[in-house]
Amino acid sequence: DNAPVFNQSTYKASVRENTPSGTLVTKVSAYDLDDGPNGDIVYSFSSHISARARELFGIAPRTGRLEVSGELDYEESSVYQVYVQAKDLGPNAVPAHCKVLVRVLDANDNAPEISFSTVKEAVSEAAAPGTVVALFSVSDRDSEENGQVQCELLQGDAPFRLKSSFKNYYTIVTEGPLDREQPGGDAYTLTVVARDRGEPPLSTSKSIQVRVSDVNDNAPRFSQPVYQVYVSENNVPGAYIYAVSATDRDQGANAQLAYSILESQIQGMSVFTYVSIN
Ligand code: CA
Ligand code: CA
Ligand code: CA
Repeated sequence: DNAPVFNQSTYKASVRENTPSGTLVTKVSAYDLDDGPNGDIVYSFSSHISARARELFGIAPRTGRLEVSGELDYEESSVYQVYVQAKDLGPNAVPAHCKVLVRVLDANDNAPEISFSTVKEAVSEAAAPGTVVALFSVSDRDSEENGQVQCELLQGDAPFRLKSSFKNYYTIVTEGPLDREQPGGDAYTLTVVARDRGEPPLSTSKSIQVRVSDVNDNAPRFSQPVYQVYVSENNVPGAYIYAVSATDRDQGANAQLAYSILESQIQGMSVFTYVSIN
């Protein structure tokens, strides 16, 4: 003639995500004034419990020990309501009910993610300092400090820097003048490292390639400032005299050279009367 009675109608417990199966969450307890089987209590989940909570938790029928039985993921859900009933073994038993509110605590189990939305394939060597070469955002699925991300640009001596535009959005900009003709100046590998503030911290890195495109900022240069050549007299027209050569540090059309002779007079005659150049 007595139904079991729980000590508390609601229990509260918290457990860290990723704790191994078998970890104690809390212990529920009911009493029954009857004697023998009429007072023997068996605990089980009641029908109100969600299917997912039933997978993640287990209850020991005789002790009321609620334990972890699946993989708790804070990022999936941070709280579960576990409904437990207590029933005696007597005939026509009437069950008692209680609720366990289980809060899942966050662990730093997600590394930050970096996603580039824009990467300029090339930047002109004449680009002004502050020119944007890439845009990216960072995110972290964890919460609080576990999800707070700091970014750093590993650029070596490259004249680039990181600029934070607004929360979790960054740009990579040029910092100083670029010179494609400097050794290593025609392309740069820039690496972004994103690190969260969890304990221990997790980090991710991603690299981009930025090519420096040419501007026509170098004049051609002859291999010598003055060439001195001797030619024997009475030569036939078209005879070879000498080949001069110049180089240009720029690229493509900016480095393609055409040679010509400057107008001048030799013994009152145009220089073109005597020589021509290919
Ligand atoms: Ca987490
Ligand atoms: Ca994290
Ligand atoms: Ca150039």
